[in-house]
Amino acid sequence: MVKLAIHGGAGGDGPWKGPTDLDPQRIACMHNVLSTVGAMLESGIDATEAVTIAVEMLEDEELFNAGKGSVIAADGKVTMDASIMRGYDKAAGSVVNVTKIRHPIRAAKLVLDKGWPVMLNSASADKFAIDSGLEEVNQDWLITDLRLAQWQKWKKANSRPGSTDEDDEAVLDHDLEGMGTVGAVAIDTNGVLAAATSTGGMTGKPDGRIGDTPIIGAGTWADNLVAVSCTGVGEAFIRTCAAHEVSTRIRMGESLSQSCTNMLEMVAPLGGRGGVIAIDSQGNVEIPFQTMLMYRGTWIDGEIMTGIGPELSPK
Ligand code: ASP
Repeated sequence: MVKLAIHGGAGGDGPWKGPTDLDPQRIACMHNVLSTVGAMLESGIDATEAVTIAVEMLEDEELFNAGKGSVIAADGKVTMDASIMRGYDKAAGSVVNVTKIRHPIRAAKLVLDKGWPVMLNSASADKFAIDSGLEEVNQDWLITDLRLAQWQKWKKANSRPGSTDEDDEAVLDHDLEGMGTVGAVAIDTNGVLAAATSTGGMTGKPDGRIGDTPIIGAGTWADNLVAVSCTGVGEAFIRTCAAHEVSTRIRMGESLSQSCTNMLEMVAPLGGRGGVIAIDSQGNVEIPFQTMLMYRGTWIDGEIMTGIGPELSPK
């Protein structure tokens, strides 16, 4: 019963207008992640390593807002957050505001493997990752032309951090500006659940801002019941302990589907439109979102489905 679900962020309002010119590249990346990591899961890799590899591959796709191609903060720098959690023992690892590593999620996994502490921040997290042998990169490598152009638009319009096109048409051509976070959830051959999430945060975020992504229980959660990875306006997900809320609701008797939908309904009034991917211990998979679109895909018994707008499809 191995299963894998991934996301590449949610965004936009109103009806989906169909794929953009850049979307085939995003879909191709998701297909590659699902077929590669799905096959690994089937051959017995553990769920925690599977979600790490899946997120590393998504971090490497510069059209998603994680790793290379992360969005740019108010001060013109890329700072990245990532976290991971393993269900059966609630082991967790998180890095906050790292600036010079290629794969923040691998750094979070190393924190998890070490066992203590659970979170490392900024320069200390970068140092830990690099000293542990992870690939060091510089800001010029992380910042892409696309993100630079988006940041310049944001700066010129002097809009609030994380502005989206429904707030201000002039700022963005796509709501993914602030919401291209990536994540993965999996259940492995031993029935172990795991979740991982990685992001550059939101365009124009103030110095030191921490979103939900690196916060265990807000952007990422896994226990014996469910593995959860969220995307959306992070502050609202923090204020509702959103990822953990899914588990609480399952424990109280709700189905996975009800838990995810009800969680999103709690988050929305706080300005937290977004989406969630979740797999429960029975192998149910849910991917609800409240936005116009959510890049997402599943690998279920060898069958790959991906989607951007309302429908999932094999292609
Ligand atoms: N949740 C992320 C953050 O607030 C952004 C996103 O999911 O797109 O940093």
